Amino acid sequence: MTQNEHVAVAGQGAVAAAGGWRGSARPAQSGSVIRCTNVHKGYKLGDRVVSALRGVDLEIPGSGFFAIMGASGSGKSTLMHLLAALDKPDEGEVFVSGHALHDMNEGELTAFRRREMGIVFQQFNLIPTLTAHENVELPGMLAGERESVLRARSTELLGLLGVGERGSHRPDALSGGEQQRVAIARALLFAPRVLLADEPTGNLDSASSQKLWNLLASLARDQEMTVLMVTHEPAAAVNCEKIFVLRDGRMNGEILTEGLDAAGVASRYQQLVRAS
Ligand code: ADP
Ligand code: MG
Repeated sequence: MTQNEHVAVAGQGAVAAAGGWRGSARPAQSGSVIRCTNVHKGYKLGDRVVSALRGVDLEIPGSGFFAIMGASGSGKSTLMHLLAALDKPDEGEVFVSGHALHDMNEGELTAFRRREMGIVFQQFNLIPTLTAHENVELPGMLAGERESVLRARSTELLGLLGVGERGSHRPDALSGGEQQRVAIARALLFAPRVLLADEPTGNLDSASSQKLWNLLASLARDQEMTVLMVTHEPAAAVNCEKIFVLRDGRMNGEILTEGLDAAGVASRYQQLVRAS
């Protein structure tokens, strides 16, 4: 876990103190949930710059389950970091839930991240000495929320995610799939509108993976969330309604999955990547 990813997990707290999650009322937002325009991002390596994103455009109008697909090194994680307000673009615009992330200062980005964003990674990033309940509640604890309020919320979330019986277990007593569900419950503590998942099943077997994709799809549908998942696997992406294909730091096209199976997605993906 990078330092910023630690902050993303632990830092969600202060909002609870401000009462940001208890009502979980979302102000009506006009415009798209996610919109990126001509986004560039490079990393300095010694005296040269690696261009990770080279003019990315992306628009997601509302709730639903969406994928970003691309080969290793195509810029998927970099894009997720920008959407999660963990980093800023060098150039271009990033709007999430109507907020202009590219115009925010550090303090505003941190506040945004706490209030609006849930994120999970391939590594579950749970604290090994804490139970499932305590892991979910930790960001609220750090914010000084009342224990009873947090316990009610974590009970609700662990139940929603199908691990309601596992709340008193520590991570090493949970399967990989259960650990990722606990990590998702933690990401949902403050009822964000957007959940980002960067290769969330990268450490899971195929049966646990399919269960997790079904769960993300039902969160998008039942909680009216925008769930955006990064993957390089057609079997994962086929569970989403739309796939954005990233190649060498640019959007390379979109795949609508309706009527396609995983093999169909794989073949559309190959066509898109080959055509460019
Ligand atoms: P993906 O998630 O699709 O595998 P990344 O967004 O992680 O791709 O990386 C895109 C490109 O940026 C790659 O060439 C990668 O080596 C480079 N990169 C990513 N993070 C850093 C970093 N912190 N420092 C230097 N280069 C980086
Ligand atoms: Mg990545």
